[in-house]
Amino acid sequence: MPFVSVALPLPVRRQFDYLWPEGYAGPLGPGQRVRVPFGRQSHVGFCVGLPDAVDIDPARLKPVEDVVDPAPLVGPELLRLTRWMAEYYACSWGEALSAVLPAGVKRGAKRRRVSMARIGVPEGEVADRIAEVQEGRPEQARVLRLLAASPEAIPVADLARRAGTSTSPIQTLARRGLVTIEEVEVEDDPFAGLEARLDETEALTPDQTKALAAVHAAVLSGKYASILLWGVTGSGKTEVYIRAIAETLARGKQAIVLVPEIALTPQTVRRFRARFDRVAVLHSGLTETQRRAQWERIARREADVVIGPRSAVFAPVADLGLVVLDEEHEPSFKQNSTPRYHARDVAIMRAHHAGAVVVLGSATPSLETWANSMRGKYGLAILPRRVQRRPLPPVEVVDMAREAPVDKATPLLSHSLVMAMREALGKGEQVILFRNRRGHSTFVGCFRCHHVVRCPRCDVALTWHAIWRRAICHYCNHEVGLETFCPDCKTGRLSYLGAGTERVESVVEKLFPEARLARMDSDTMVTRGAYERVLGDFESRKIDVLVGTQMIGKGLDFPEVTVVGVLSADSVLHFPDFRSAERTFQLITQVAGRAGRGERPGRVVVQTLTPLHYAVQAAARHDFRAFVEKDLVHRKELGYPPFGRLARVVCHGPDEEAVHRAAERAAAALLQAAGGTSAQVLGPSPCPLPRLEDRFRWHVLVKAGGPSELARIVAALDLVKGASGKTQTTIDVDPLDMI
Ligand code: ADP
Ligand code: ZN
Repeated sequence: MPFVSVALPLPVRRQFDYLWPEGYAGPLGPGQRVRVPFGRQSHVGFCVGLPDAVDIDPARLKPVEDVVDPAPLVGPELLRLTRWMAEYYACSWGEALSAVLPAGVKRGAKRRRVSMARIGVPEGEVADRIAEVQEGRPEQARVLRLLAASPEAIPVADLARRAGTSTSPIQTLARRGLVTIEEVEVEDDPFAGLEARLDETEALTPDQTKALAAVHAAVLSGKYASILLWGVTGSGKTEVYIRAIAETLARGKQAIVLVPEIALTPQTVRRFRARFDRVAVLHSGLTETQRRAQWERIARREADVVIGPRSAVFAPVADLGLVVLDEEHEPSFKQNSTPRYHARDVAIMRAHHAGAVVVLGSATPSLETWANSMRGKYGLAILPRRVQRRPLPPVEVVDMAREAPVDKATPLLSHSLVMAMREALGKGEQVILFRNRRGHSTFVGCFRCHHVVRCPRCDVALTWHAIWRRAICHYCNHEVGLETFCPDCKTGRLSYLGAGTERVESVVEKLFPEARLARMDSDTMVTRGAYERVLGDFESRKIDVLVGTQMIGKGLDFPEVTVVGVLSADSVLHFPDFRSAERTFQLITQVAGRAGRGERPGRVVVQTLTPLHYAVQAAARHDFRAFVEKDLVHRKELGYPPFGRLARVVCHGPDEEAVHRAAERAAAALLQAAGGTSAQVLGPSPCPLPRLEDRFRWHVLVKAGGPSELARIVAALDLVKGASGKTQTTIDVDPLDMI
């Protein structure tokens, strides 16, 4: 009998050998899961090989306890891909394998029922009930608030996640009759009955024709290629994707379309549904059962086109011909837990293995992708104009330092923006206002004693949510009520500074009492249904002004929007992150891109305190190349991507001394491994957010010339990592989050 090599979902970067399960005749092979003894426990891992010989004395090996799956759950293609991920992202093969399979698939979910919660008390009593539990049971208060804000029932699991609790507070509330829970049957196909949106596109524009020709040529060659489709907002990138997919299907192959989760709206899905019959949709709103059903449809080849967020890159398509990544610059393509993969890079590696084509679409490509296309690693296709010769909207940059102050404080809305809104609303057109912070005031403090209301568990100021009359930590959900006077000196009056979306909404309400208003941020968009309803209402023009966070910037196509306001271009600019200029450029360009997509021309007002910053200036002129040239100079000076590769090592734990020591040890190991190379090790130093949820945080940064050098250096941590009790070490290769 051969031995069984098993990859376990543990942070240990090696496989373990076992004896063939006693008295078992088979089948057993790579991709099947097995239960094996490990230490004093037993774990489920993946069989990854059946070696004939092992390095250690076979007498010391234990047999596999149980074979979990009757047939392989993952095929050779995903085995190979996850092995690469484990190497590249410095995690174990078992961790990577475990991450690519949806929970429902692993668990074999058969149930088609899901528990839904809704508020169980009359509207008039809700506030009182919340007040009762507010102090002693804040998590119950959060649950009630979320339910009270939602006109529809919320799946219990989602509700718990949103409230940052387990499900037990929800069960308690249900026992007390404050929440009602019912089991409902769920549809297998989440988009059944959704009408297709037929695009009235007759002919491609000459630019689209040219771009498509480049993609077609690659698809026809049957070999791996990546192509950057750089097209300004409203240039018709989706039409190019759709025709490229049609070509792929005509050649008997399948396609995966990756979009940022938030852009996975019925609007997007309808456009694909209209052209293709066999579409599978994966998104986070699916229940485990639904996801499993979609997964199985794909595996059985009942779907040729898969649409989903980053995890859809692992969809079990047998004959991959094309992967499209729409809005490839979006940070949501990067996973922020182990394995910390980027869907773009995984897609490229998968396409490499499969001989497939990758199309990376964006109006504001990431600098990494741009550089790769300049170096000839990716092809480049350009859509420099909007369809139907529609102009890109003129952008006016307003220097908020020079705005005549109304009632002492800097005004939230500039004179220009108010005038533009008035004119548009007068003509029955629509307006989008973008503010990157939720809540009412982003900062509450006392001018008398300089006390700032902060989170006791995190090193951040609390945000005031006027609607709930609570100050809340946006990192850990800790919350407090506030009185008129400072909680510290008890005599100064509290000042509420920094405006979030909630305050913007109330200011607009006062200025334009007639306008129908909606706010779109993660406080109001509790369910997927809420998000889709507001977008539907906006589309059917039941809403005039939409105020929101970056949620509103993602690929929305509403032709009647003529005015877009970016209320503060600075909020992202001053983040301690080398990508802050890039993010600012992307945000302004993307949000501005929502204006003037129909027949009526649009205009954009960008408010800022740094009107001369190159990111703001370049975005105002729609000049991506100018931005890139400037930003690349800075990146090059400092050796940041795309001029080098980064890994960020974060040590975190409850004991600051232990965390500091762990970071010192990690830095020393990295430094030693980097000896004799040009790689640099920076730190250790406290993270820009030095404490979160009562855990202290230190980090070390490694800058290396290339990925293999980086992987070799980071591998030095395998020995020092995880050796120190409550202190944990996480490794992030190609990090996007520097905070
Ligand atoms: P992008 O993704 O580049 O921002 P979209 O793909 O959303 O742009 O296209 C913008 C709008 O232009 C859509 O309403 C789409 O139906 C329309 N459109 C796309 N191609 C054409 C074309 N060749 N002729 C006319 N309209 C088009
Ligand atoms: Zn906190």
